Amino acid sequence: MSTKQKRYFLTEEEIPTQWYNIQADMVNKPLPPINPATKQPLKPEDLFPVFAEELCRQELDQEHAWVDIPEEVRDMYKYYRSTPLVRAYGLEEAIGTPAHIYFKNESVSPVGSHKLNSALAQAYYCKKQGITNVTTETGAGQWGAALSYAAKVFGLEAAVYQVKISYNQKPYRRSIMQTYGAQVTASPSMSTRAGKDILTKDPNNQGSLGTAISEAIELALNTPNCKYTLGSVLSHVTLHQTIIGLEAEKQMAKAGEYPDIVIGCFGGGSNFGGISFPFMRHNILEGKKTRFIAAEPASCPKLTRGVFQYDFGDVAGYTPLLPMYTLGHNFMPANIHAGGLRYHGAGVIVSQLLKDKLMEAVDIKQLESFDAGMLFSQAEGIIPAPESCHAIAAAINEAKKCKETGEEKVILFNLSGHGLIDMAAYDQYLSGSLQNYEVTDEDVAKNIAELEKVI
Ligand SMILES: *Cc1c(COP(=O)(O)O)cnc(C)c1O
Repeated sequence: MSTKQKRYFLTEEEIPTQWYNIQADMVNKPLPPINPATKQPLKPEDLFPVFAEELCRQELDQEHAWVDIPEEVRDMYKYYRSTPLVRAYGLEEAIGTPAHIYFKNESVSPVGSHKLNSALAQAYYCKKQGITNVTTETGAGQWGAALSYAAKVFGLEAAVYQVKISYNQKPYRRSIMQTYGAQVTASPSMSTRAGKDILTKDPNNQGSLGTAISEAIELALNTPNCKYTLGSVLSHVTLHQTIIGLEAEKQMAKAGEYPDIVIGCFGGGSNFGGISFPFMRHNILEGKKTRFIAAEPASCPKLTRGVFQYDFGDVAGYTPLLPMYTLGHNFMPANIHAGGLRYHGAGVIVSQLLKDKLMEAVDIKQLESFDAGMLFSQAEGIIPAPESCHAIAAAINEAKKCKETGEEKVILFNLSGHGLIDMAAYDQYLSGSLQNYEVTDEDVAKNIAELEKVI
């Protein structure tokens, strides 16, 4: 193991004061979300019943490349930002690669993942609008934990629907949300019409993000002074996450390097977009040639094997129709441990970027992701979240290619969170009982054929 260590930080003054909105610089803008009731392109006002108004405006803003970070949010960022940019000498040595590997360590946030970057912003905008209650869904529990804490910071009540399989598999994440003062319900539940419908058809349904989203939106619509919040997929979430890449850009400059390859794991696209978009702006505006790689699980392969078309973001069809790469909103991913990556669709921005070949996607099998997590833990001392292991696996694959060619490429990946509350998953890996799940082409085709009937 390497004893060389190099970490780069920013001073308080150097922490970015604005987020970056890539929509303004995209040559082909994302297609508009469609209001399913009117079949017309969505206007910000259409989203007002569900989200805080400022977030609705950010969602559809294709004009302003830079958005000021509110002072109150930036003050909270300073509690844990800048997050370290680390030269991963240990990992480089373990692989024996000439590549220079860097990672941005978002696991140092109080809740252990990047999710807090957007949770603070969303809770702030709700508070500013006079909202008193927020709802949300959570899969693995990372987003629920972040939102629960952010709600507490800004004096809001939080109600969280947690995907049932995670609620049972990851009891500590539920305890964390409850410790921050949130009310947590396993989804599907009997507390909403969407949940009842699903349980009536399938009493053993273990839930999915799509189902939990339906329940959380329904509660928000039926509760006075209550808004829904989302931890991924939407463009305003990714906007808030660009703090990661904007910091990384300044930190890489301090290291005297610029990335040839930027990698993030991919659930709905917020941490991938967060680290990538500030660098991608130089590809778009100045013709730089950095490669961007989204690493998704082989069991939920919307980017590598899904179709690009309009689809709902949730199972019940409460969300607008979004133009995205999708496996179909009825897709039930296998119960992999990377709960944060178990989502059927991709955000509209990344979907357009992938279609236009401004980025790439790879799929990683569950066992390969944990192989990477083990190597990284032993080389760098940080036990990564099962989601983050996908980015690490993709980075290792690129570093191995450099070993073959002798190229000294600069690889940057985002460590989206730590895995200290996911040790049950590591236990399974260590005992040899962890398995791969793969989706057959028939499954994908069948689900998408169903989708075409609905939409
Ligand atoms: C939620 C989560 C992800 C996936 O979400 P994205 O929006 O795609 O970033 C990845 N890593 C961790 C640790 C998460 O909590």
